[in-house]
Amino acid sequence: MAKTYDPNNVFARILRGEIPCKKVLETEHALAFHDINPQAPTHILVIPKGAYVDIDDFSARATETEIAGLFRAVGEVARGAGAAEPGYRILSNCGEDANQEVPHLHIHVFAGRRLGPMIVKG
Ligand code: AMP
Repeated sequence: MAKTYDPNNVFARILRGEIPCKKVLETEHALAFHDINPQAPTHILVIPKGAYVDIDDFSARATETEIAGLFRAVGEVARGAGAAEPGYRILSNCGEDANQEVPHLHIHVFAGRRLGPMIVKG
């Protein structure tokens, strides 16, 4: 069953221009901006302009053009940040077990330092 999208989540409000963001890139299908609480020297969020709750929702419902548009934007943002070398990490939290806080799909782009292990063993 499709997840219900909350149109008042903070990223929906950024997309509507109701609250500001530090914009990095805007394309037809994606918006990228600096995370408000950066966890690395570069911490940028890339979001689709469409109303998708998370990567599960997006991968099920988005068009090929929207999917390409989002991931092209991720690559462009990382290259623009000078991170293609020596490298970067992308991450997307999906749902409760992943501690997703904002219910609009976002791809985190982390760079600018050695990022350590991928995940804490548990
Ligand atoms: P997640 O836990 O994957 O849902 O991550 C949500 C991210 O959104 C966190 O890294 C927050 O710091 C970030 N965030 C929340 N509100 C804003 C905002 N208004 N502008 C930029 N980043 C935000």
